[in-house]
Amino acid sequence: MENGERIGIIGGTGLYALDGIVTEGTVEPVTPCGSVSSPIVLASLDGVKLAFLARHGAGHVHSPSEVPYAANIYALKALGVRRIISVSAVGSLKSRIAPRDMVIPDQLWDRTKGIRRSTFFGGGIVAHVSFGEPYCPCMREILAASALEAGASVHPKGDYVCIEGPAFSTRAESRIYRAMGCDIIGMTAIPEAKLAREANMCYSTLALVTDYDAWHESEEEVTVEMVVANMNANTALAGRVVAIAARAAASREFTCRCRAASTNAVMTAPERRDPGRMEELKVVLS
Ligand SMILES: [Zn+2]
Repeated sequence: MENGERIGIIGGTGLYALDGIVTEGTVEPVTPCGSVSSPIVLASLDGVKLAFLARHGAGHVHSPSEVPYAANIYALKALGVRRIISVSAVGSLKSRIAPRDMVIPDQLWDRTKGIRRSTFFGGGIVAHVSFGEPYCPCMREILAASALEAGASVHPKGDYVCIEGPAFSTRAESRIYRAMGCDIIGMTAIPEAKLAREANMCYSTLALVTDYDAWHESEEEVTVEMVVANMNANTALAGRVVAIAARAAASREFTCRCRAASTNAVMTAPERRDPGRMEELKVVLS
């Protein structure tokens, strides 16, 4: 990693802090995209600089539709984060993926309803980034190896369908997602992954399976109690995976193209670009 660079960790449902880190302080920046979910903890782990952000805020106050994703990604980038490990609770759409397993998704299907801010662009600046491979392949490899090393039952790939929520799916929806070939279901990957790509960051997710969603006729229907119980059972292990992965990510050279994602993505003619908007986008495009 370059000097001043930090590994970004976005904690999801159940993962609101990380054991074993030495806290340097907290910051709560206000960005051109608004305020972040919660104060960002600047810390170090065996010399690796980290920035930890609880996606749903302290005390879990932001619903998946309300999380200020753009502000979060902007703030992490401004703090020197170029590589992100995000943690998310998900449901399983496959028998072979059991509750308390971990999945490192490699694909995404957006089934949100268009009410979340999903791009840094617009407002006079048009840009299109590649999103065929929505997750960083280098970070995914590191996460999968780290999960194995920590002793987790891990699936190294999977298609993640992102729904709006906040209610869990109906049986019909769940069966359709299964029929479409999806492996896991969650509520936060979109737009987080998309914004990280636009910001030229390496983004990956450690998905913690908490339930069998609604399709599994012989299982109980998914409830908050079930999600929380399985998350709590897995939080310590997830923390170990993240710690191993953060150390590995800090010492590895990456060969991916995430850092150049928006280099040639802006289509707006240079003479038509609004200087004020370009100034706001400086952090994103750097
Ligand atoms: Zn990458």
